[in-house]
Amino acid sequence: MASNPRFIFVIGGVMSGIGKGIASASTARILKSKGYRTTCIKIDPYLNVDAGTMNPIEHGEVFVTEDGKETDQDIGNYERFLDEDVPSLNYMTSGSVYLSVIERERALKYDGACVQIVPHIPEEVIRRLNLAAKKSKADFVLVEVGGTAGEYENLVFLEAARMMHLKSPKSILFMLISYFPIPSKIGEMKTKPTQHAVRALNSAGIQPDFIIARSLIPLDEPRKKKLSVFCNVNADDIISAPDIDNIYQVPINFEKEKLGAKILKKFGLRESKEDMREWGKMVKRALFSKKEVKIGIVGKYFGTGKFTLSDSYISVIEAVKHSAWHFGRNPKIFWLDAELYERNPEKIKEELSQIDGIIVPGGFGSRGVEGKIKAISYARKIKKPFLGLCYGMQLAVVEFARNVAGMNGANSTEVNSKTKYPVIDLMAEQKEKVFSGNMGGTMRLGAYGCRLKDKTIAKRAYGTRTIHERHRHRYEFNNALQNILESKGLVVSGVNPESGLVEIVELKDHPFFVGTQFHPEFKSRPLHPHPLFHEFIKACLSSRK
Ligand code: GLN
Repeated sequence: MASNPRFIFVIGGVMSGIGKGIASASTARILKSKGYRTTCIKIDPYLNVDAGTMNPIEHGEVFVTEDGKETDQDIGNYERFLDEDVPSLNYMTSGSVYLSVIERERALKYDGACVQIVPHIPEEVIRRLNLAAKKSKADFVLVEVGGTAGEYENLVFLEAARMMHLKSPKSILFMLISYFPIPSKIGEMKTKPTQHAVRALNSAGIQPDFIIARSLIPLDEPRKKKLSVFCNVNADDIISAPDIDNIYQVPINFEKEKLGAKILKKFGLRESKEDMREWGKMVKRALFSKKEVKIGIVGKYFGTGKFTLSDSYISVIEAVKHSAWHFGRNPKIFWLDAELYERNPEKIKEELSQIDGIIVPGGFGSRGVEGKIKAISYARKIKKPFLGLCYGMQLAVVEFARNVAGMNGANSTEVNSKTKYPVIDLMAEQKEKVFSGNMGGTMRLGAYGCRLKDKTIAKRAYGTRTIHERHRHRYEFNNALQNILESKGLVVSGVNPESGLVEIVELKDHPFFVGTQFHPEFKSRPLHPHPLFHEFIKACLSSRK
């Protein structure tokens, strides 16, 4: 069927953060389970050319695709729900679209035409959507439009959607994900904000086919009817999406309202099969895992005012969950503040002794670094399972160099460019990039091969000789100091076969002490937990005994 892909545009109403990404990914999962090739695309309204230059506290995690694009965290949701890699073509920002159009104009490719926001920007968006659909051979393409209806910033994307619909109305559907507040003093669910969102969409020339109603509780019949009249959407096509405990329940809940069948019907397609068995089993395991496994994440990207946000580490958290559920455990995550450990080292023992394992995830810059190193030191000495991801691995090397190999003051040159022992350093190629100042999208990005050494934790976990894992970093393990570090007991268990770059380090005589230069968390899926996280959780459970 792939010769004629169908597009479903997913647009937000009322406010952000209500789960557009999860709704898109869940709908995609449902259509995939019915035997259709399905993919998801995200359009971000930012002028940043990619997500790599955005602050993780503001924008959440930067998710890296297999082919090395720095994207929005929703691409991670798509991969986890679809259980497939999503290529870089499936992500675009306003910045990247404008850049292409302007570059084309500079290359005289518009034949002297006056280049304008409309139609040239939507045309470039449409070109990209069609290309991504073609490359993935998808029957269905979910297109998540960032922002909310009525905003200035995503209008041009709605214009692209409208133009596509005009040309081919039978192959386009629109889905509004909207929020229904229940103000505590009123005590009633309000539909008015959504009515306004639909008006805003209408003024962009779009009429939603479905409304996904996000709220604390399911929408009741009187409100469905009212909304149906005021928004011109069939009551049957208003799908309740109340708050739930576990995001992976969403496809199952949507299916309780027969969303998949309703979509197929609108496209004039018949439902032939459905297979949500594996997914259902996974969700059950997740919901019924009661015994805890306690994991501490030592980081710095979670404080904003009075709130703690975990979005900067979403793939790490999801990877922990996938593996914990696999063991029938309920993961309890503790946010451990690296900067607090610098001010108050007493806290390290107090907090870390309560948990089963420690993760030091990726990071940048010097803030909080010494606190992380102290936490790693603690994990090494008292033999607490430790998993270091990217910066976490680099700092584990620094800790080992300083406290085991006697390299006083060892550091990453990211933190101290004058250190006597630059155990983590910039490669010549990266130095040039930093020097030129043109740094966007120039880290080591995407999947690289890694050969594993026999008789190591890494080899045992993966059970295979060569792996491919995703990177996002500028600094590298300094091979000039490899011999001396190895002679002091550091095990280099994974190396890139082409460049000789060190990809994994670990320690012997420790239940689990592993650091990876790459980000394994990007490849963990609920149906396929990542082998390293799996091994880490296993160690957490057995070291507790
Ligand atoms: N700051 C380190 C580097 O650039 C690690 C990056 C990361 O953890 N993703 O190499």
